[in-house]
Amino acid sequence: MPQLNENFLRLEKNYLFIDIAKKVNAFKAANPDADIIRMGIGDVTLPIAKCVVDAMKKGADEMGVKETFKGYEDSGAGYDFLKEAVSGYYKSFGVDVKPDEIRINDGAKSDCGNIVDIFGDDNIVLITDPAYPVYVDTNRMNGRKVIFADSNEENGFAAMPDDSVHADIIYLCSPNNPTGSVYTAEQLKIWVDYALKNNAVIIYDSAYEAFITEENIPRSIFAIEGARKCAIEMCSLSKTAGFTGMRCGYTVIPNELVFKSSDGQDVSVSQIWGRRQGSKFNGVSYPVQCAAAAVFSEEGIKQTRENIVYYQRNAKVISAALDELGIKYTGGKNSPYIWLKCPNGLGSWEFFDKLLNEANVVGTPGAGFGKNGEGWFRLTAFGDYDRTKEAMERIKKVFG
Ligand code: PLP
Repeated sequence: MPQLNENFLRLEKNYLFIDIAKKVNAFKAANPDADIIRMGIGDVTLPIAKCVVDAMKKGADEMGVKETFKGYEDSGAGYDFLKEAVSGYYKSFGVDVKPDEIRINDGAKSDCGNIVDIFGDDNIVLITDPAYPVYVDTNRMNGRKVIFADSNEENGFAAMPDDSVHADIIYLCSPNNPTGSVYTAEQLKIWVDYALKNNAVIIYDSAYEAFITEENIPRSIFAIEGARKCAIEMCSLSKTAGFTGMRCGYTVIPNELVFKSSDGQDVSVSQIWGRRQGSKFNGVSYPVQCAAAAVFSEEGIKQTRENIVYYQRNAKVISAALDELGIKYTGGKNSPYIWLKCPNGLGSWEFFDKLLNEANVVGTPGAGFGKNGEGWFRLTAFGDYDRTKEAMERIKKVFG
């Protein structure tokens, strides 16, 4: 009989979205005519830009012609044309990342989860709380010790390091899911200095960088001095260009990122990650990479921007309604997420029930993202504009 990895049995049951679905279904059964507005899911709703779809079709056509057909991609790390396009995109916001430091993948979730393979199980892992659940789950699957840095109302949901605590692996996400908060350059510099002092690595998730509107908020950890010696960045086209159903992202590992093995050898992180990927990943399909490259073309940036601006307009509608109600929140400005403090001292799930029953609006209880999420609630700006306006009018009626 095989021995199971029993760490899986000790994982927290991820019931959040199942519990939400159960409650919504029960409500629908009891109130079949209710017009429910969903502002809970973190998925995009607008279609992919035309020039991007055209590029994918062209790529697909090439696969049907002998002269241009592609089989396995040699490296599995992405075609040069896409890595160069990503490198050019970084340059557009002033960050120098070389094509050979970029690896193309099937979305940020895979690499966020798989990166644990190249680090030993005795590492101390520091994760901000609340957090995107993948960071905690994938470390606990390997039985790692996870410690938390509290993101809370006092620090604007932007946890900072505690110098008296040591960590080896640090997960940061900015703009943050679920809180919508962002780190300034000064705050990120403190994290980078902490990582360098502790000889730690930062896994930096920038999946929502395209939503940043403020000039002084870095779009990449590599805008920070010293980060090339301590950080890995993971980004995705899911939210930038509506690729949640297409699957494409990229991970950047600087060539300078080197740690010592137990026998004192210098080991390039990029090399061992490449070795891991070489054995376990065969690359992203050619048509999808063609589409991804089109996202970074002049026309692609213009067209995908229109969708982001649409979602940002929704975020403004949500923020304006909460301002009117005097409800505290973070996010919305540089993020598609608005993280609000449940009014009248309600718990996350109590607020969920009240919102569903009285406004017929569905959101996500903050308690599902970690202990500091209790009493907070996530609304997303990924919905339809008119429905978002309608939802906020209803919320104003219930809580006004
Ligand atoms: N990182 C964060 C913070 C996310 O919220 C998500 C998706 O919601 C991802 C990564 C995963 O994105 P992808 O679709 O590229 O796997």
